[in-house]
Amino acid sequence: MASPIQKILQEASFAYMSKAQIVIRLAISYIVEDHMDTEEAIDKSLQESQMDLFWESAVEAAIAKAFAKGAGIATIPLLPELREAWDPSGMKLSEKLHGTQKEMRQAIISTIQQQQKLGKHAMQAARALYDGYNSGVHVIRKQELPQYIQQVVHFVRRSEFPDDDYYALMRRVRRAKRQTERLGTHGAPNRALKTAYKQLLNAVEKNNTKAIENAVKTAVEEKSRYVAERIARTEAARAWADGFHYRYDGDTDVAAYRWKLSSRHPHFDICDMYAHANLWGLGPGIFPKDKTPALPVHPHCLCHLSPVYHSEIKNKQTNRIRAGGDEWLESLSHMERYKVLGIQGAEKWERHHADWRRYMRNWSAETAKSRLSITTQDDIIKSEVSIGQQLSYKDEGQNAFIPEGAIVKPKKVIAGLGSDCNLRIADKLATDYGGMAKEWQKVVGTITSDQYIFDVHWYHHKEVGNVLFKIKSYTERRK
Ligand SMILES: [Zn+2]
Repeated sequence: MASPIQKILQEASFAYMSKAQIVIRLAISYIVEDHMDTEEAIDKSLQESQMDLFWESAVEAAIAKAFAKGAGIATIPLLPELREAWDPSGMKLSEKLHGTQKEMRQAIISTIQQQQKLGKHAMQAARALYDGYNSGVHVIRKQELPQYIQQVVHFVRRSEFPDDDYYALMRRVRRAKRQTERLGTHGAPNRALKTAYKQLLNAVEKNNTKAIENAVKTAVEEKSRYVAERIARTEAARAWADGFHYRYDGDTDVAAYRWKLSSRHPHFDICDMYAHANLWGLGPGIFPKDKTPALPVHPHCLCHLSPVYHSEIKNKQTNRIRAGGDEWLESLSHMERYKVLGIQGAEKWERHHADWRRYMRNWSAETAKSRLSITTQDDIIKSEVSIGQQLSYKDEGQNAFIPEGAIVKPKKVIAGLGSDCNLRIADKLATDYGGMAKEWQKVVGTITSDQYIFDVHWYHHKEVGNVLFKIKSYTERRK
């Protein structure tokens, strides 16, 4: 099945390529015609074409579209949540884009500089050959000649020439080589040798410019584009998953999710396991909604999910990650095991039945959450909270306290998100502790000691945690 974001990525890629032509035209004119320093020429070209700004908005548009696609809604502007950190790197979108732009620039510059270096060496070698034998003075010893010619061969082979140019150049090289080999023991130059060297020099000079132009094209259309597409893919895939979870996590008709490989899935990897192993007893490739691996699993991962309805599920969910993984690994060939576990891991697993999770590439126990999931009051009510501070009270007139770390059982959200009641200090909480004001909740719960049941209230935010615990009242337990 094609990835649901394939079209979105194609559009972005197409846009990149048309902008790339402008960058290439500018860069060639600055480098080849104006002989500008390469770094300066690339910076000027990127700046004048506004490539950075352009690609930034192209990636942002792709993210917004991918989210909408995953969420099954009409296209929306990029939501602020999607600019926030989410993946393990902890970077915000703007920081990632900035890093990518530096990488794109560097990819262009180093590709061109490599070519320039190759060309420079070839030109020096060809000139040395020509000058050395044209002047009639032996500046190069005969034994060294093949090395000089080899420099030119290196240049021809490593540069990206169209076939015609490549063969024409190689003919010149062979001719020079032949003439060199015919040199007498004293190495007296003759007319044929001089001509061969002259032609070689001319050909290298002429093709060096062409080689640099080709390098600029390759640098922008391939090397830099690879980096550009990588961030578009990764972030769009992530946003698609945000949209998908946003759409289905709260949908009670949906029981689980099925892992789907993209038809463009390029390598055999952990995603094949996610799609085919029965890790939760629900069937191959099926995950409980809150146990789905986070997408993308690896760079360029275009896997996706589809909803599984209650009627499709026969068995109860059970954690059989290791056993399910073992079964899947048993169904593979040795080669396939190497691909997912590495050579060492495959051997450890085959011979000593090692836990595959120690070796599986890109394995993570982390599960997906939408950056846009709406916290319901249930999330906190279902959990247990340990209090972050000591709470004092009077026990028969004496000062007593509940120690820090005591467990409180949340009972109800009485204000803020998930309740009908306005949380008056929401703005202050957001200022003091972080998080969005509208996401803060006031919660009541109980702490039970040997003697008392304490009614406690505090403030909760899904990311920030729990703060400002207070004892409201307490009653003696009935024995
Ligand atoms: Zn994948």
